Amino acid sequence: MRGRALLVGGGIAGLTAARGLLRAGWEVEVRERRESPPDIGGALSLWREGMAALDRIGLGERVRERARRPSLGVIAAPSGRALTAVGSQRAEVHLISRSSLLDVLVEGLPDGLVRWNTPVTEADVRDAEGFDVVVGADGIHSLVRRTAFPGAADPRPLGTVAYRGAVPGAVDLATETWGRGMLFGVTSMDAHTTNWFASLRTELLRGREGQDPVEMLRELYGGWHPVVTRVLEALPGTAVDRRELYELPALASYVSGRHVVIGDAAHAMAPNLGRGACESVVDAVALAAALGTEPTVEHALARYDRRRHRPTRMVARASRVLNRVSTSVRLDRQRNHLMRTLGHLV
Ligand SMILES: Cc1cc2nc3c(=O)[nH]c(=O)nc-3n(C[C@H](O)[C@H](O)[C@H](O)COP(=O)(O)OP(=O)(O)OC[C@H]3O[C@@H](n4cnc5c(N)ncnc54)[C@H](O)[C@@H]3O)c2cc1C
Repeated sequence: MRGRALLVGGGIAGLTAARGLLRAGWEVEVRERRESPPDIGGALSLWREGMAALDRIGLGERVRERARRPSLGVIAAPSGRALTAVGSQRAEVHLISRSSLLDVLVEGLPDGLVRWNTPVTEADVRDAEGFDVVVGADGIHSLVRRTAFPGAADPRPLGTVAYRGAVPGAVDLATETWGRGMLFGVTSMDAHTTNWFASLRTELLRGREGQDPVEMLRELYGGWHPVVTRVLEALPGTAVDRRELYELPALASYVSGRHVVIGDAAHAMAPNLGRGACESVVDAVALAAALGTEPTVEHALARYDRRRHRPTRMVARASRVLNRVSTSVRLDRQRNHLMRTLGHLV
């Protein structure tokens, strides 16, 4: 079928859905409260399903041209001892900076299709006159979800805080180092830049309120193996993004009448599996395919919900478990032992 869609939010999910729906012959309007795509955010990992979804809307090659593929992903202990490792060919992960991915998504969209600097209100979500479907692609604090999905719970804190940034220089390996109550990740961002992230249980930050983040990170992670130390040494003078991490309790359905949620609006999850952006892309392409082929909006939204609800709940649950395990405070020795054993078995 063909129709008119209002997309609330011009992030990864909203822009991917716009590309997919245009290909399916739909009329599309994206309303985004920001003035332009944000020039922030670290490297995002796109897994096999995400790349396959981008291929379906003709963008896979452009993403591959800009992405990097680490040769190996390693989980290590602070000493540098590997707990487990997986080759990138097996994991099929592409790393791309958020701004590069958004560039690819925006490139070639008809002028005026994205209305920047246009915050959507509750009344817009309810009325949406002239639109057959309203897509909430408006992120973790989604207004569409709060307005059109009665009883949907608010995001809840995961008990961890993340710091992120980038430093000059390239890396090939992707490493995540797990200590007691905290982890440190290092991946490639592009040919000249290294992406890093640190995640800590909030209780470890007690008494450090107001401390300079660079100084704090250097204190907390000082003495870890050289991949981490090299990043810590390069931190002064670079920007550090801090955010408390939240996840969204499960929604019973991603559809409510002609309203549908995709991406973080539907299933914001712990970042530990690096799957949020990837699942957002898969949602968006699945929704566009359903709206392009099913005979009615009702059928299409039901198909999207059937295809995406269960898998995304499973990924969100696994991400939560990994968030707890990777920043475990009491059982870190047993955890590391188990990881090594599993690594040998795999
Ligand atoms: C620390 C951290 C690390 C992460 N690392 C990874 C990773 O390695 N790999 C990965 O796949 N994912 C990762 N993610 C998750 C990923 O960033 C998100 O899953 C992804 O950005 C979701 O995209 P989205 O389009 O659904 O939402 P968003 O990116 O939040 O976009 C929503 C858009 O809607 C707009 N909006 C909101 N309200 C309104 C309104 N009322 N009117 C108009 N516009 C509105 C916002 O301005 C925004 O542009 C990470 C997340 C965090 C917090």
